[in-house]
Parts: sequence; structure tokens; C-alpha cells
Amino acid sequence: MKTLIDSTFIRLIGQEALAWNHRLLNADGIEEVDFVQNRKIALENFRSEIQKNNIRLKENEKCQCGSVDFEKISSCDRFGMLFPTWICKSCGLISTSPVIDQQSSDLYYRKFYHPIHFDLNFSSHKTALYAQGQGEKIFRFVHPLLEDVKQLKILEVGMGTGSVLLEFKNAAFQSGIDVNELGTELNQECIRAAEKNGIAGLYGSFNEVIRQNMQFDLVILSHVFEHFVDLPAELEKLTKILKPSGLVYVEVPGVMSLHKKSEYDFDYLMYVTHAHNYHFNLTSLTQIFNLSGFELVRGNEEVETVFRKGFQRIDISKNYEQLKTYLVFLEQNRFYFSALKRGLNDMKSQLKAQEIQLQHLNTRIRKMESTWSWKITSPLRSINFRKLINR
Ligand SMILES: [Zn+2]
Repeated sequence: MKTLIDSTFIRLIGQEALAWNHRLLNADGIEEVDFVQNRKIALENFRSEIQKNNIRLKENEKCQCGSVDFEKISSCDRFGMLFPTWICKSCGLISTSPVIDQQSSDLYYRKFYHPIHFDLNFSSHKTALYAQGQGEKIFRFVHPLLEDVKQLKILEVGMGTGSVLLEFKNAAFQSGIDVNELGTELNQECIRAAEKNGIAGLYGSFNEVIRQNMQFDLVILSHVFEHFVDLPAELEKLTKILKPSGLVYVEVPGVMSLHKKSEYDFDYLMYVTHAHNYHFNLTSLTQIFNLSGFELVRGNEEVETVFRKGFQRIDISKNYEQLKTYLVFLEQNRFYFSALKRGLNDMKSQLKAQEIQLQHLNTRIRKMESTWSWKITSPLRSINFRKLINR
């Protein structure tokens, strides 16, 4: 079958999937040969666990909206692994199929997710798994919606090393809000790193929180929701742990913001990974939340959103056409975006070089002005200068 981004698929299979695999960069853009080696080994082991059926894959036969009418967008992910993505022709929700099934996901996240996507070594130089400043950003996004709140009980699902919670807590404290936080995580090493920073961690996910009968004012799902297998089931659990007036902050990598994402080379195929079961825009994410009894309070195409319990039904009838048009536009213009970005970077480095030259010049002038010979001859020069301009 022809894919929506057919030409890119051929391009990726040929050269660029390998180039991506062998990039001598980690998620921070730091050159790190060991990291590439770790990734290669992890990818090979991941493949072999699939072949041995220790990690099982599951076909996604039906869209969340009930439709079975899909169009194939891509055939493999950014690592060159055969995890195709599909768009629902009824609602525009993009999903990966097959995906790693629920039973196998524990093993996958314990052993493979981090070495494939990030660095193996969490505690030493790397504090934030996703991005530095993420927790503070989330606080700024949610803060206008918190009226006269002095105390906040928050939960982050999939907290990584706890950097988001730590930043959120510090930012809230400065605005006079006392935060009582908890983070869940499926990776023990991450929990240990978080606890070193004083962030309380719980091994597991929603189920463990429900078991402990806890409810929260705010639940943070930062780059987590796209990893879930059964969305309605997870949202039902979310309902249980959220206070009636509670808020949910959900952030996923928005497919309709790829024209701004140089980290993916403005390329859909560099964006998709086998770990993401869904690829949302604002409309398709809102629809999923609507179907489970949530309404959108605030949101954009990045996708950064806040939901609360409530009734809402948004119009999804044009979403498929809109997304398809966008993806074709992106595919046709991604080289242009890359060139623009390179041009901007060149200009920035030229400006930087000129700034350094100016600094050198200023230092030389100050040195000259501090010499005795300059100070003595200075009055003469100014008289001469005045004579010149009074002429
Ligand atoms: Zn659908």
C-alpha cells in the first residue's frame, strides 16, 4: 500500500534511519560515543526480544472513535523499526500499529526505553529527562487557573528523575503555594535519582495510586499520555484519583507543531517512535478526553493542555483533512525549514563573532586610555578637536 509519506519512507529505509541511529549526540546535544553504543545494543536486544515473543505486539484494529477506516502514513519509526503509523479517516487520530502490548510494556520500560531514547546514566550529568525548565513552564501554564490556592496536592505520572516536580514545587513556593507532591515511575533507577532530590516516588502507575486511596488537585501527564495503550481505561483511572474540581495538565508532542521542531529536522519520520502509541494534535487529544468526561480549559498545538471533569463535544469532522494537508505541507517544505534554521544559526554565529571583535576593540581602547602618554596629550587633542568643529 502507498503511504501518505511514501517518498520519505524510502528515504528513511535507505540512509537516514542509519544516520539517526549512529548520531554521536545524546538528547542534550552532547557528543557521547558510549551513548550511541548503548542505543545500538538496546535496539538489537529489543528486536531479539520481539522475535522471541518475550515482548508481544498488538494490532490496533479500531480507532478510539469506533471507526476502522485508516490510512497509512508511515511504515517505520525514527530508529528504522517497522512500527507503522495510521490516521483515522473519521476523527484524524494518528496511532501506531502494531504497538507493544500492555503486558510487555513493563519489561520494555524497565530495560529498553531509556537506553534507546536517552542516556543510560541518569544521576551524573543529566538531571532533566525531558527538558530543563519543563516544571517551571508547567507551573506558569497552570497558575492562572488556580484561584486563591495556597496548598496543592499534585501527582506526576511517569515522573522520570523528578525534575518536573522539583521545578514546579520551587516555582509554586515563590508564588506562595505550598506543594505536596508525588511521582510515579516504572524505572527504579529514576525513582532513586528523584528521591536524592527529595521528591517522593512510587513504583508503578495509576493502579498503585488508586490502591492507596489518594486524590489530587492537579495531575501532570508530561510526555506520558502518548505512551498509554488503552486510553479510555487510563482516563477512567485518572477520574478516580482526581478531586472533583481538580485539573489535569497533559502535554504531548503535537504533530501540528513539527514545522517549528528542528530537533526532529522538521520531519514526521524523525518524530515517530515505537514508544508513542498515539500522535495527537489539539483536536484529537481533546476528543479523547471529551469521550471520557473531561472538558478542555486551556490548550494549544504544541500540545500543552489543561482539562477538568465536565461535558464537552468538539467538532472533529474536518480534523482528518486538516492533518493530512498539514503533513503533506510539512513533507514538501521540511528542507526549506531546515535551510531557514541553518541560515538563522549562521547569522547568530556571525553576530557572536562581531560581538567578540567589538569586545576586543573596547579592551584595547580602555588600555590606551589608561596610559600616561594618552592622559597627558588628551587635553591637547580635545582643543584641536574643538577647533576643528568650530571652524
Ligand atoms: Zn477515529
